[in-house]
Amino acid sequence: MRIQVLSSQLASQIAAGEVVERPSSVVKELVENAIDAGATSINIEVRQGGRKLIQVADDGQGIAAADIETAFMRHATSKLADIEDLNAIETLGFRGEALAAISAVSQVTAVSRTIDEKSGTRLTLAGAEITSRETVGAPPGTVIAVENLFYNVPARLKFLKTVNTERRLIDEFVTRYALAYPQIRFRLSHDNRVTFQTTGSGSLADVLLAIYGSDTARQLLAVGDVDLSGFEQSAIANLTGLGDNNDLHAFGYVGPPSLHWSNRNHITLFVNGRWIKDSSLTYAVVQAYHTLLPTGRYPLAIIFIKMPASEVDVNVHPAKTEVRFRGRTPFGTVQRAVRQTLVESSPVRPLSSWSLGYQGIQPGWAGRPDREGFQIEVDEEAAQLGLTWGPQPTQPDYGEVAMEGAETAVLPDDPKIPIMRVVGQVGAAYIITEGPDGLFLIDQHAAHERILYEKFLAEREKEAVLSQGLMAGTAVHLTPPQATLLEEYSDLLHQLGFEIEPFGPNAFMLRAMPALLAKQDPTQALMAVLEELERGDRPMQEELEAQVIKRVCKTAAVKAGQTLSRPEMEAMIRQLEACANPHTCPHGRPTLIHLSVGQLAREFGRI
Ligand code: ADP
Ligand code: MG
Repeated sequence: MRIQVLSSQLASQIAAGEVVERPSSVVKELVENAIDAGATSINIEVRQGGRKLIQVADDGQGIAAADIETAFMRHATSKLADIEDLNAIETLGFRGEALAAISAVSQVTAVSRTIDEKSGTRLTLAGAEITSRETVGAPPGTVIAVENLFYNVPARLKFLKTVNTERRLIDEFVTRYALAYPQIRFRLSHDNRVTFQTTGSGSLADVLLAIYGSDTARQLLAVGDVDLSGFEQSAIANLTGLGDNNDLHAFGYVGPPSLHWSNRNHITLFVNGRWIKDSSLTYAVVQAYHTLLPTGRYPLAIIFIKMPASEVDVNVHPAKTEVRFRGRTPFGTVQRAVRQTLVESSPVRPLSSWSLGYQGIQPGWAGRPDREGFQIEVDEEAAQLGLTWGPQPTQPDYGEVAMEGAETAVLPDDPKIPIMRVVGQVGAAYIITEGPDGLFLIDQHAAHERILYEKFLAEREKEAVLSQGLMAGTAVHLTPPQATLLEEYSDLLHQLGFEIEPFGPNAFMLRAMPALLAKQDPTQALMAVLEELERGDRPMQEELEAQVIKRVCKTAAVKAGQTLSRPEMEAMIRQLEACANPHTCPHGRPTLIHLSVGQLAREFGRI
């Protein structure tokens, strides 16, 4: 093929990919523009997770009729005058790329009017080409509607996640900006239903309440030397008038150690009003909780960092969510501020360690009857286990868990947990047992995961992983990337007990499965393993293997919500007693919680 200069349209589509990765990036760019325009009210409407429509309306300063076409050109911005300005960016935008990039990969309608103009201008574009322009009646402000995102880039469309995932990412961006700008009224609706809104009162507490619900918001602890209540009317994340402008401040709110999640998504960081991703600062927050949280669990934190704009380089990545600190870094300031808050907060009541497992699934997350339709983020692990708030679906005895092995489970010489007697089951999720010193609550899913994991490792050690043939074989169709992945890891999959044969382009015949997974749907089980392989963020083969084995065990383990018969519970406890590491599941979450006789007596005021 001859070498060719890309057409400008193609070049802009490629560049667009950097800025507009997915619907949530469009929401982010449009909301940032509205904030930069000084809006006091921002209304965001989304249809089908943003594929069909993303519309952001603001009451900001508007775009003048003479400028509106320029706004959609590449590198067109009103926020940078010369190269010097790049050294101290005070606005969220500055690259002049977002509108151009968005219009290159969608159909855009923009209506805007400045306060000085008598009428507004309506401009439509498709694939970066202007298709119409007219004068219209409009209130001051800007409305940008983005329809049929990626209609002209099918390759991108294919890689979009499910509508729910895209919705979740959009929700995350909007709630972040709502936190940083409590003086702006935000309203987000999905498919014509308002799912989130803030009052624009200027009070961060109001926004926290709207996002987290009163149960969680009530527990949050203030961090740092800044009294946030004194800044009612300014952008919290970008406080001006904070004494010396050269100062470095870290402030905000953190959750008590009893509130924790399975991922870092609830650690939110802002530098001068900009939401950023920074693994080092996230680590600073996690470090501050050192020893206070169970392994593998992460706190809730909303931390605002304020420092001179000249010390922050935001021109690192097109998405502007990464920054580089030119001189001092806020790491120590953040860590000290959070740690101090935690140390000063009242000592944890003994009972709260007992209720830890429960706190991980905050009712506010999964939606509650009193806040209908409000769903910012569901703890994925909890959702997967069906551990959402509300009445648990009762199921008949499932009697399907492979409990064989209980008879042969040999107690180790140095058992790590005492011999226990099964008392019963609560919430179809926990087994209650009695031991020599009080009672235990056992998370049936976590415990079963642990049991299966040790069993699997033992089989592997003996090179005798049990495989179970599928009578007829199951044909699976994969996407090309998945097929590539499967071929790449065919040895590993074979060692784990999968027998897979090619069966046409991107199709495979599943002949056998790890025996552990015998009760699962073969296609789904294989997909779960592929998903684990897809994450591909683990360079070491061994680590990858361990992750895949953990995933197999997780898939095979009894779920919460499953009623267990007494023999099943007894079998599970016998096998847990025989485990080398019975205290945690393979992912590090606790399998059991102990409430000693002494603790019981204290709680009941007997001593
Ligand atoms: P940037 O934000 O980096 O300047 P964009 O492509 O996002 O680049 O926007 C280009 C220009 O269009 C902005 O600099 C601004 O002047 C104008 N603009 C975009 N959105 C709005 C808005 N909602 N209100 C007022 N002006 C806007
Ligand atoms: Mg912008």
